[in-house]
This record gives sequence, structure tokens and C-alpha cells, in this order.
Amino acid sequence: MIAMKSAREMEIMRQGGKITAGTLAMLLRTARAGMTLRELDRLAEKSIRSQGGVPTFKGYNGFPASICTSVNEVVVHGIPGEYRLREGDILSIDIGTTFKRYVSDTAATIGIGRVSEAAARLMRVTQESLMLGIAQMQKGNHLSDIGHAIQAHAEAHGYGVVRALVGHGVGQKMHEEPQVPNYGNAGQGILLRPGLCLAIEPMITEGTYEVETLPDRWTVVTGDGKLAAHFEHTVALTEEGPRILTLRDHDFLELDVARYRPKEEMAA
Ligand code: MG
Repeated sequence: MIAMKSAREMEIMRQGGKITAGTLAMLLRTARAGMTLRELDRLAEKSIRSQGGVPTFKGYNGFPASICTSVNEVVVHGIPGEYRLREGDILSIDIGTTFKRYVSDTAATIGIGRVSEAAARLMRVTQESLMLGIAQMQKGNHLSDIGHAIQAHAEAHGYGVVRALVGHGVGQKMHEEPQVPNYGNAGQGILLRPGLCLAIEPMITEGTYEVETLPDRWTVVTGDGKLAAHFEHTVALTEEGPRILTLRDHDFLELDVARYRPKEEMAA
């Protein structure tokens, strides 16, 4: 069953989303070569708790930290440990906050110092794919229109779309119905209507979309060791259209979602 949210519930999630997004923005500004992932995790937990939130991930199915930190070929669910970031790495940070019993969930990938052209392109296209998916979250569209838009954009650039992990409904629980695949045909699944809150989260790879889980039972890596990127927002569907509850200040994607087009299309 899908738990639709009232305006009051969405407002709580918006408040929580500000904590989540603000903390992620701080981590993205702070991460640099020489820092350990554990240092970032400590900063995240402190930031969330100081604003009245609780780090949702900590203890979730036994996860040992407040954020997931996924470097280079790690797709998602990397455990922040003693690894020291290096110039040229790409780092995905995934973060969830529970505020007044409601969860918000967001992720982004950044380069540490200067990164390769190929890495920069992968991150850009993944972020664009997220925005194109969000733009499909309109009253009267079908659920699969979201994943279809994500897949079309990613594959047009020669990338893989991870199948084994998907987005999800979000609310009083981090993972609610429905599942939100990042692939598929358009026009399938439930009709979207106001009150729906989704965590949309494309995981895009340079090579194969197949993934493997490491013996720590958390860390998910690409099957071929090539790079992966991950962007995620918690989005509420309102009468006015999709509303991103985890927008960051200075996020270049703070654009009118309905008018958003990727760079190539704008140039055309
Ligand atoms: Mg999620």
C-alpha cells in the first residue's frame, strides 16, 4: 500500500529535507584530498543532530554509520572508514534524516580536486538523469515514466543503468512503496497523483550495469570496476507539480523542473 502524504506531512518532510540537504551541502564543500571518510561521517552526524534530526541510516539493518560514502567503482552503500580521499576520486555521499518521524533521503557525487573528463561527464549526466526523472513526476503520468526518462538519457550517453537497486517511496519509513526503477518502458505502473513522495535515485555506471556486493555485505561495486555515480532527491508531488524537498543552495539544478533541459538539448 502506498502511504500518500497530506500537506501537513509534506511540510514536516520539507523541514527535515532542509536539514538533510544542508548537511549534504556542507559535506560536499568540506570533502577534500587527505580527509578520511570517517571524518565526513562524524561531521554529518553532528550536523544532523544539532538541527534536531536523527541520522536515519545509523543502525538501519545494522548499518554502522550516518552516511554512505561510495568512492569511484563503489555504486552505493559504502561504509565510511579510514580510507583517505585522493585527488581525482569521485565520491558519492548518501544521507538520510529522520525529523519529527519523517524521513528525507538525498545523495550527490562530486570530484575530489581535479577529476578526469570522463568522470566529470558521468557525474553531469547522472545529475541530469535525476532531473529528467523528476520532471516526469507529474499528475497523470505513470510511475514508469520516471525511470524511462532516466534510462533514455543515461543510455543515450553510453552509460549503464543499475537494475539491482531502485528508488522508493519515502515518508515515515525510509523505504516505502512503490519501488521506483531507473529503467523501463513509459506508461506503466501506477498513475501519479498529489500526495506521492518518492526518493528518486539514478545509479549510473561507465560500463556494465551489473553490480556486486563486497564481503562486508554493504558495499555495492560495479561488476567491471569502472566508475559509478549516484544522485538522489526526495520529491513530493503537489497540485503544482514536483517539489524537491532536498534541494541544496547553489545546486546548479535549482531550476524550474518543468523547464529543465540537459545542456546538449539547450544548445540544439
Ligand atoms: Mg534512497
